[in-house]
Amino acid sequence: MSESSSENLLSSVGHSTQETEFYTPYPPGYEKGRTRYVVVLGTVMSGLGKGIFSASLAKILKDKGLRVAPIKMEGYLNIDSGTLNPFRHGEVFVLDDGMETDMDLGTYERMLDENLRGRNFTTGGQIFTRILEREREGHYLGRDVQMIPHVTGQVKHTLRELALTTQADVVFVEVGGTVGDYENGYFIEAIRELAYEEGEHSVGIVALTYIMEPRALGEQKSKAAQLGMRQVMQAGLQPHIIACRCPTPVTDKVRQKISMFSNVPLRRVFSMHDVESVYLVPEMLREAGLDREVLSLLNLHERVNQRAEDQARRTWQSFVDRLLEPKEKSVTIAVTGKYAALRDAYASIDKALEHCGVHAQCHIHIQWLDSTEITARNAAEMLKGCHGIIVPGGFGARGAEGKIACVRYARENRVPYLGICLGFQMAVIEYARNVCNLENANTTEFEPNCPHPVIDILPEQKKIEGLGGNMRLGGKDIMLKPDSGVSRLYGGAPSVRLRFRHRYEVEPRYLEILERHGLIFSGHAPNQPIMQMLELPAEVHPYFFATQAHPCLTSRPLAPDPMFLGLVQAALRRAYPQRVFENLIGGKPPTVSPTDRPASLNMS
Ligand code: GLN
Repeated sequence: MSESSSENLLSSVGHSTQETEFYTPYPPGYEKGRTRYVVVLGTVMSGLGKGIFSASLAKILKDKGLRVAPIKMEGYLNIDSGTLNPFRHGEVFVLDDGMETDMDLGTYERMLDENLRGRNFTTGGQIFTRILEREREGHYLGRDVQMIPHVTGQVKHTLRELALTTQADVVFVEVGGTVGDYENGYFIEAIRELAYEEGEHSVGIVALTYIMEPRALGEQKSKAAQLGMRQVMQAGLQPHIIACRCPTPVTDKVRQKISMFSNVPLRRVFSMHDVESVYLVPEMLREAGLDREVLSLLNLHERVNQRAEDQARRTWQSFVDRLLEPKEKSVTIAVTGKYAALRDAYASIDKALEHCGVHAQCHIHIQWLDSTEITARNAAEMLKGCHGIIVPGGFGARGAEGKIACVRYARENRVPYLGICLGFQMAVIEYARNVCNLENANTTEFEPNCPHPVIDILPEQKKIEGLGGNMRLGGKDIMLKPDSGVSRLYGGAPSVRLRFRHRYEVEPRYLEILERHGLIFSGHAPNQPIMQMLELPAEVHPYFFATQAHPCLTSRPLAPDPMFLGLVQAALRRAYPQRVFENLIGGKPPTVSPTDRPASLNMS
């Protein structure tokens, strides 16, 4: 927050002679009523796909030419998601500015096809840190600092600042968890205050709920949903729109019940049943008329650009058509990580492959393999039948030897390989051990005193201690070696910007011996000997690439990442050696992309 905006927050406290109960923290320059807000709240249970719903709604408004800005608010007290275990929370999504966020931000970026920033994500930890800093700075001038108005005031200020800095027509606020959770109570109260202060037609409350369909009864039951709505109303919020998640289309009878118990007109109670792919959700919402209801509710009809919408719909529709087209070819890609049991831990790899499947018109079967179960002895058996192998990012020694065994198998058997971050480091270790004969080469992350620390902590990070704050994070440029395989993959570009999240890197002392033995480092940081891409020459291996970055984070439905697409195409060549495939990579960014998904909508 800038100095001037904090002063304005102070002036709005309204103490001294002008004592008032109102606490309306407007950042300077904020124009009340210009930006509207759509708040998406969950009821009944989490995991209903609030993020997908909210991102799809934001997308259909963006398609109309409106400027949208999403924000996810998490009640937990961590400052960001960087220290969260992917096993519990799903993958940590890294934004271009280095903010480590919840995986929902990935959903927004993919759906909206734009880069978000730290300001699009906040946590209880951030809100309270700010409050405590301000308290120490003496900003509250003798008042006791309270949940209401100060904490809620800080939340409102965060939202208004987002509105102001993005000049959005609509800010989409997604509150994590469900209404009634103890830890997000102050967010919900802040929304109530925001709706009151911003005035009519400014804040739309959308409640997402769940209609149960117990198998034993064979019919839809709405009681839990009704109780959920009651809880929203008890918090002082009247929902304007209700979206009912359900495996099957919600019946009129159930919609009527929900409508009548929640004071929401029937036309604003929507069925949001499972569909084949999340990318069908925007059109489903549009067809149900949700966009029109939001425009009327927020009085935004006059800001719509019909031509922009027609164009955006056509582009999206052609992508969806390709996604739904039956695929004749199929490849199996192994993803070997230690969280293989939990797909969410590798959500963006899953998505990046999905994008490639649509673009390359093939079904991609992802074989999730637990690297802790792979050994040098069983690697061949475990990886049998895979047409491509991905070793994903990760931290800690558990499962590492299994990953190294996978790299060796891929390299020696000419199986297409893509290493991501830790998968890049594992490729270097494998090459050092088995090709350069550097016995027991390793990373100091796993073995601080190993004889050949080919991967070591980054020099600039060496001084910094402790978790959090010492990671190389966010979007960075990578200089690509001219005429290398990666430079071809990225269409001959001299550099590419990808996102990073790592502490360790290739120890520069070992570059000479690795390169002498044939490993090509084809991408590095500008002005620094930090190696960021490696490859084997095409005459040695059909597709052996790895990067210290996470290209999956920037893969988009309409523009799959070229390293992933290259892997899928190499896998296709392996699976169908007799066929000739059109070379889709190395040109302009693809125009169309994702896959045939399993038949249910993964809304988590
Ligand atoms: N653990 C490795 C490092 O810190 C790799 C990190 C990752 O894969 N995200 O450098």
